[in-house]
Amino acid sequence: MLSRRVTKIKPSPTLAIDAKAKAMKASGEDVINFGVGEPDFDTPEHIKEAAVRALKDGFTKYTAVGGIDPLKDAIIKKLEEDNGLAYKREEIIVSCGAKHSLYNIAQALYGPGDEVIIPAPYWVSYPDQVVMNDATPVIVETDESNSFMITPDHLVNNVSDKTKALILNYPSNPTGLAYDMKTLQKIAEIAVKHKFIIVSDEIYEKLTYDGIKHTSIASLGREIQSRTLVVNGLSKSHAMTGWRIGYTAGPAEIVKAMTKIQSQSTSNPNSIAQIAAREALTGPQEFLTHMIDQFDSRRKFLVNELNSIDGIHCTMPKGAFYVFPNTSLLYGKTYGGKQISSSSDLALYLLEEAKVALVPGDAFGNDNHVRISYATGLDDIKRGIGRIKAALSKRDSSEQ
Ligand SMILES: *Cc1c(COP(=O)(O)O)cnc(C)c1O
Repeated sequence: MLSRRVTKIKPSPTLAIDAKAKAMKASGEDVINFGVGEPDFDTPEHIKEAAVRALKDGFTKYTAVGGIDPLKDAIIKKLEEDNGLAYKREEIIVSCGAKHSLYNIAQALYGPGDEVIIPAPYWVSYPDQVVMNDATPVIVETDESNSFMITPDHLVNNVSDKTKALILNYPSNPTGLAYDMKTLQKIAEIAVKHKFIIVSDEIYEKLTYDGIKHTSIASLGREIQSRTLVVNGLSKSHAMTGWRIGYTAGPAEIVKAMTKIQSQSTSNPNSIAQIAAREALTGPQEFLTHMIDQFDSRRKFLVNELNSIDGIHCTMPKGAFYVFPNTSLLYGKTYGGKQISSSSDLALYLLEEAKVALVPGDAFGNDNHVRISYATGLDDIKRGIGRIKAALSKRDSSEQ
């Protein structure tokens, strides 16, 4: 009965774990949720007020499919000031969240016979969005020792005459790591030479630490800008996950195709949320500093604590709000009578034994790791780490 398309894909595993943790919590269990992929901060007040004003002013009708001009202009200004990128209105489309932007891109670009290169660990929706459009995801493993960056050699080896696009995401969900300038330059050269598109998911751009500044690959020259789709949004930077506003900047021809697709599916993104997004981009940004400070201290605390656990190794992330510890040394051992042999086993054991929810790395294409989100208060992080330590101290003594 169902389409071939839907039988080929799976539900988002991160949303599934989040739902399970929320359900346990709702039934009265004291679950600590490290599975979340959204800031625990509330949307800043001035943004909410802009939305209330829009509502009261009756800004409650359909808008232009690809977003209102004042929001597009705010996005253009942001891209110019933050990223040194120049765009015109016809090169911008606003969608219902960055996930929707990526989906429109997939519909506009990918088809049967096309290959899309996705470095692993990857964000969960990339491969399924490729598969949904009958194209083939080419998953390229990366090394932790190389900060999980795809190497230029490795990229070239995976390029074929069918390569349509490469999906980049930095700072990365799930690893928290970022690309360095030298690697970005080489990747840009390869994309120009082999004529493929770069889909650059820059949703965590604002969340960087240790003074690191984000560089958009599109800003490395006119040629690379003309084959890059810059995807960004307000969900992570302005704690606006529920508002559903994301956007794409790129070649007019592709943006026009995406707009056509959007006109036949969702129509415009929510009118009130568009006004709120404009305020988010043009209003005061102070709250960001506060949010980043909080994330930064949680990050340092978590990495230190995780590295103090026998069998766990965790590198210091440079951005986003996740740590991605290597837990593979725990596999093959028995804890509390349960044999752990994969990231899923570990996640399940910690959920049942410690009431701590985290996401197994195999959801992101790397079974040697788990993802722990620190978009949760420091008190909960302290309690959660304590519980993880207690659960992992229950190692079956006959093995030691
Ligand atoms: C959260 C996230 C998105 C999607 O964000 P929206 O809420 O849809 O704007 C896209 N890419 C990555 C890597 C994310 O973590």
